[in-house]
Parts: sequence; structure tokens; C-alpha cells
Amino acid sequence: MPNSAIQILQETFGFHAFRQPQDQIIDSVVDGGDALVIMPTGGGKSLCFQIPALVRAGTGVVISPLIALMHDQVAALRQLGIRAAYLNSSLAAEAAAAVERELRAGQLDLLYIAPERLAQARTQELLSACSLALFAIDEAHCVSQWGHDFRSDYLLLDMLPRQFPGVPRIALTATADDRTREEIVERLQLGAARQFCCGFDRPNIQYRITQKNNGRQQLLRFIRSEHPRDAGIVYCLSRRKVEATAQWLQQQGYTALPYHAGLGAELRRQHQERFVREDGVIIVATVAFGMGIDKPDVRFVAHLDLPKSVEAYYQETGRAGRDGEPATAWMVYGIQDVVKLRQMLEGSQGDEQHKRVERHKLDAMLGLCEITSCRRHALLHYFGEQSPAACGNCDTCLTPVQTWDGTVAAQKALSCAYRTGQRFGVNHLIDVLMGKQTDKVLQFDHQQLSTFGVGSDLDNGQWRSVYRQLVARGYLSVDMGGFGSLRLTDRCRPVLRGEEQLALRRDPVESKVRKERRAAPQLGVADQPLWEALRACRKQLAEAQNVPPYVIFHDATLMELVTYRPASREQFARINGVGQSKLEKYSEAFLAVIRQHDDGGAATAGGDYAAWTEG
Ligand code: ADP
Ligand code: ZN
Repeated sequence: MPNSAIQILQETFGFHAFRQPQDQIIDSVVDGGDALVIMPTGGGKSLCFQIPALVRAGTGVVISPLIALMHDQVAALRQLGIRAAYLNSSLAAEAAAAVERELRAGQLDLLYIAPERLAQARTQELLSACSLALFAIDEAHCVSQWGHDFRSDYLLLDMLPRQFPGVPRIALTATADDRTREEIVERLQLGAARQFCCGFDRPNIQYRITQKNNGRQQLLRFIRSEHPRDAGIVYCLSRRKVEATAQWLQQQGYTALPYHAGLGAELRRQHQERFVREDGVIIVATVAFGMGIDKPDVRFVAHLDLPKSVEAYYQETGRAGRDGEPATAWMVYGIQDVVKLRQMLEGSQGDEQHKRVERHKLDAMLGLCEITSCRRHALLHYFGEQSPAACGNCDTCLTPVQTWDGTVAAQKALSCAYRTGQRFGVNHLIDVLMGKQTDKVLQFDHQQLSTFGVGSDLDNGQWRSVYRQLVARGYLSVDMGGFGSLRLTDRCRPVLRGEEQLALRRDPVESKVRKERRAAPQLGVADQPLWEALRACRKQLAEAQNVPPYVIFHDATLMELVTYRPASREQFARINGVGQSKLEKYSEAFLAVIRQHDDGGAATAGGDYAAWTEG
């Protein structure tokens, strides 16, 4: 009698309950049905095929393009006492032969395999000779020829129902647009599969977008106050900025490593590996970084430059908080970013139609930045998903944005651009508005203009905000050549004629550390030493086995250890993420750490450490 799904969830994985709709998916596959699962990153896709593979007789075959991850994925399963192995080109012939022997002998619960390996007739023969529980097709969007992750080997997977009739297939992806989904269904012959779509929302990610005002210092304040010891990714637009920012963070005492396409492959590999294996490493990267990183405990993703589209923003920020724990997506942007991206776009090689699409995408991204209502709502709406009007976990929900009647200010700003000949960038325009007699003003006689000095009611920062919003909303366009000079567009007319009122965003003053906003694990100061000690213990165990720390225990599990301070094996077993196998392996080591701490502090056995906190 095989174990039931819930039993396996609790005893093997050590989790208390399924997340919706994991149990429905699992039931459906256990019953032998095909399934297509569309679930956001971090939603918990893996359990949807791992548990049916354990419930059903035979081996579950997992097809994944991410060869580099297989080693760690298999290591994580073995930690749970699951008989898992992988076959891919990184494996030496002998090791591969051993895996094949185990497979034939029916000694594997799960086999991870690269698609190109499955394409070989030899592999298909091997599998035909075995009892198979299911096929899981991970990253199923790789079958889409329009997507950027297309893998031609995925096209061959349509042979599975013919070659292996009766073996259920479950395809999984986080990419949810309709076109990709239709393509998956068609190419993988999943017309009869039950579809499970779980939406795009990543509720544990806090979205924040702030005006740039010395981005580096803002980044430092953000990391210092909210994520001082956490792993995170900092995205920059250029390689040079990546290098400079990484170096600067190092000088501030952080383990920050650069990552961009200009670094040698070996160095990139090293930095990626350190990011995954060590605690609290910050990767400073261009968009080259991210694909195939399966690190669940990335606590923040910071953008020092504006992404080109909402899709890119969503994908990059989505690398935070895969473990479901609180994480922050933080970004600063300013008028220079808008100018730079508009220039890059107009100066790019593509044809006019391509540019139109890109322009549209950038506008959507700028819209998200300038919005005064809930960011999550706007983000989800962009992907065609309904959601509540306010999420309570983005900056505009947490600190509602005021608007002000910017009509007159906009008229001044626009006419200043017009009267100076539409040949100047924002800095000079603001100097003119504010009546500054700079060399440039004098050189062009701009002190004679009617707009000279009419803007002394606002300060420099406020004028930048006005111009940024005018550019972002398309009232001003950015000239390609030279220094980002601003030109009026047709859209300006009604504003200049006084026929259109403009409500502008009042950029909130950047907050100091707000405790309630902390997205890092919610630890009191008093808990910090134990948290650090538990992390150190985890690190030691991980290094001894050459696996990433999260393979031993996820952050969520360590958090529970801090909160509940189990004092016995029985209590330890109740912690989320502790299954039987990990109980055997690790309870002693971690219980010892907890005991030591409770003895060291003034805490009592019941875990009442209030005295210690205040002492
Ligand atoms: P995905 O593949 O969808 O990105 P994963 O399968 O890696 O997500 O799961 C994300 C995280 O959520 C993992 O840390 C996993 O252990 C955890 N998780 C998944 N299902 C549950 C559950 N029912 N209870 C607790 N944690 C879960
Ligand atoms: Zn919100």
C-alpha cells in the first residue's frame, strides 16, 4: 500500500499542508491524468510532480533544460531520503552507467534528465524497459519557438504519449501568456490535460520604486537598514556600472561580486557558485545574470537602472523570495534613466515597427513607475489578471502618494523647452526656470527669455520631478543626438492652451528606516545571535557535504527554530521543513545550538526570553 500524498508531504518533506492548488494537481496526476501547471516562480511546482512520483509505482522522469541545477536539485531530494539521480552530459560514463543500473533495478524514485539525452534512441529504449511513474516536463515554455528560452530538443517531446502510452505527463512553467500556453498544449499534445493556472501574483514580494537621488547612497541605506546580511541581486544597465557598484559595495564591507557578459566564463561560474553556496552574497549584475539560478533565499532584488519593459522588471524581480518568505523588489529611477532609455531605443538598429513595440513596452514600464495607485494591481493588470485595487505590500499602498495640480508648472516647463529652441537637456532648462546665471545661460542669452526665473516657486528636485513625469508621459520627447535635449510633442498642445489639467505625482520624501516596512525575516534584535548561530551551523553542515545551505534547511525553517526554540526531538519534528530524514540527520546539531543559546542568555526552558531581550 503506497503512502498517501499528505503523508509524504508531512513525513518526507516536513511540511504541514499543501498550498492551493497543489493537492488537486497531485490527485489528478496520481490518478494517471495529464496536467499543465502554470504557477509563478516560488509557487511550489516541484512538489506537484515529486509527490505523485513517490505515490505511484515506478520512477518519475523529470525533463529539465537546466543541467547546471540538477546536481543541487538531486542533492536536496537525497537529503529528504528520496532516491533521486540525474543523467546529463556533465556526468562521467561510469557514473551514468551506475545511474542506469539503479534505474533498471527499480531503485530510483526520481530521475532528472536533460532533453537532449531523452532524444537519444538509447535512452528511450532504456526507459521503455523500466516501470515509469510519470514524466514531468519542467520549464515547459522552452517548447515555444517565440519565447526566448526555446530549446529545439523540447519539440521531440511530442513522442512521449506514443512511446510511453499510459504514463501520465505533467508540464510546468511560470510563463503564463495565452500564446505560450496554447503552444505548449499543441506541441506537447496536451489537449486532454487538465490545466491549472495559478496567476502571477507573488504576494511575498514587496514592490518599491523611488526617485533616484544619488542611487548608490540610497542602495546602501536600503541594504543597511533592511537587508544587512541577506543575499540579493543588484541590477545595473552597463558593465562599467556593475564593476564600479560591486567594488564600492565591497568597500562598504559587503561581499559583492560582479557578473556580466564581459567577464570570463570561469569567473562568472565562480561568482554564481559563491552566490548560491555562501550566505549573504550580493551579486551586482547586468541582465546577463539570472537564467537558471535556483536560489530560493534571495531576499532582495535592487534595480539601479530602469528595466526596458514590465516583462523584464517582473522576471528580474521574480528572482527574489522563491521560498515564499518576505522579499523586497526595490528600484530607484530618475529623469536621466528615462532620457537614456528613450535615446537607446530610438538609436537602436531595429525597423520602425520593432521600435514601436519597444516604445510601447517602455511606456508601460514608465507608467508603472509613475503610477499613484497600487503597483501590484497595475503589474497584474498588465498581465491580464484581476486583483484587489490595493495590495498593502507595495510602496504606494504603504505610503499613499499625493498628487498636485501641476498644470501651471508643466506649462512653464514646456514653454521653457520651447523658448530655448528645444535644444537643451533638463539641467539647463531648470537653471533657466530658476533664474540661475550660469555660463551657459549667459552664453545663449537665456536670461533675456520670458521664462527666465519664473520657476523659483519650486526647487531643483521638484523641477526634475516635473520634467521626468512630462517625459515619462510623452509630453516631451528625447532627442537622439547629443545630450538628451527635450522636444515638445503634439500631446503638449492642450496643456499649453490650458485645456488639459495635469495631476502630477508628489514624490514622497524617502523614508528613514521604517520598521514596519522591513521585508527581511522578522527578527527582533534579541533573536539575531541565535539566528546567526543557526546559519553558521547550517553553513558548516552544507560545506561538509558540498551542497548549498538551503539544501540543509530553508530560511523559513531556521526562522521557526528561532521562534519556537524546540527543546526536544519531538518538538523539533514539528517544525515546518523537518521531515523524518532531516530529523535524523540534523536535529541533534541544531538542538545543541539552541540549547547553548538558551543557556547563554537568561532565557528559561519555555522559550520565554523577554528578560534577555530587555536585559
Ligand atoms: P517553483 O518551482 O514553483 O519556483 P518550488 O517548487 O521551488 O517553486 O517551491 C518554492 C518553495 O516553496 C520551496 O522552498 C518549497 O520547499 C516551498 N514549498 C512548496 N510547497 C510547499 C508547501 N506545501 N508547504 C511549505 N513549503 C512549500
Ligand atoms: Zn499595492
